Amino acid sequence: DENKRQRLLDAHKAAAEFYAHHLFRSAEGVVARRFLDDRGFAGSHAEHFGLGYAPPGWENLVGHLRRKGFSDQELVEGGLASQGRRGAYDRFRNRVLWPIREVTGEVVGFGARKLNPDEDGPKYLNSPESPIFHKGRILYGLDLAKRHISREGKAIVVEGYTDVMACHLAGENTAIATCGTSFGEDHVKILRRMLLGRSNQGGKVVFTFDGDKAGQKAAARAFSEEHAFSSETYVAIQPDGLDPGDLWLQQGARSITDLVENAVPMYEFKIKDVIDNYDLETPESRMAALEAAAPVVASIRNEGVRRGWGKNLDRWIGLMDEGYVLQRVNQH
Ligand code: ATP
Ligand code: MN
Ligand code: MN
Ligand code: MN
Repeated sequence: DENKRQRLLDAHKAAAEFYAHHLFRSAEGVVARRFLDDRGFAGSHAEHFGLGYAPPGWENLVGHLRRKGFSDQELVEGGLASQGRRGAYDRFRNRVLWPIREVTGEVVGFGARKLNPDEDGPKYLNSPESPIFHKGRILYGLDLAKRHISREGKAIVVEGYTDVMACHLAGENTAIATCGTSFGEDHVKILRRMLLGRSNQGGKVVFTFDGDKAGQKAAARAFSEEHAFSSETYVAIQPDGLDPGDLWLQQGARSITDLVENAVPMYEFKIKDVIDNYDLETPESRMAALEAAAPVVASIRNEGVRRGWGKNLDRWIGLMDEGYVLQRVNQH
């Protein structure tokens, strides 16, 4: 109910303040400050995103929030603590924390990264589903990005928390990320609503991903098909598998704006990804490329759009026979 929800929000607010205090104003926070510094995130950057540090130990946050009047049950239900045999204990220990906020600015969960690869546990540990935290419906960074998305009619979808930070710091203020889950139907709805705020054209969505198949598939699923007309989907291909966080550190802000600038329409990416496997120097090779790429084009439901990409396919293969290409596409 409303009262319980408010209690959990209050607990998260207090937790975010506790963690921020430990990042910036405690001696033990030096390991986390150094970790962020090494990734090109200065103190002012970390502060802008409200980052924190969960110190090592089992009852730092739990003890703090108990003293503030929160019950163990509330802390466990909100995912800030886990239930042990001898009471609640801190879920996040010795990790850098990214507070995950609703568009209203309320903290509803955390993403937490371990500092050393050889430590136990997964690299990232996120808050579990709770009455206030729903992975399928939240986008990290949206509180900061929302007005830019509406104004520019554009959104950049990246993979991780550090990528969102890097993009925003590079001036790409429309960047957002999912929180340890794939980009799903509800995320699409939320973004579409914001993009539609500007025009009934639907706006542009740019996906960046490390280039692995999983991210590519998620992007394709998310904004293809029925969404193709209301939003144009682009793919930014990251050079050498570097993500925006890596680019920020290694090559600076300009490399991130370039990445976004050079994004290509999703179907261009998908079609070229197929035909790049052929040398296209002989009629045989061109026909083989056509057969391989035709199903990609054939999967486009809207006829006008399908024909358009069919024409482009013809041009890219160098067959110079649009009618034949469209005929092959239609047979798939
Ligand atoms: P870093 O640069 O610090 O290594 P990253 O953001 O590049 O972090 P990736 O491995 O590319 O990390 O993962 C992207 C995102 O996927 C993370 O930000 C996190 O939200 C999620 N993620 C990664 N690993 C896990 C995990 N083990 N459990 C839950 N979520 C994860
Ligand atoms: Mn990855
Ligand atoms: Mn990454
Ligand atoms: Mn990274």
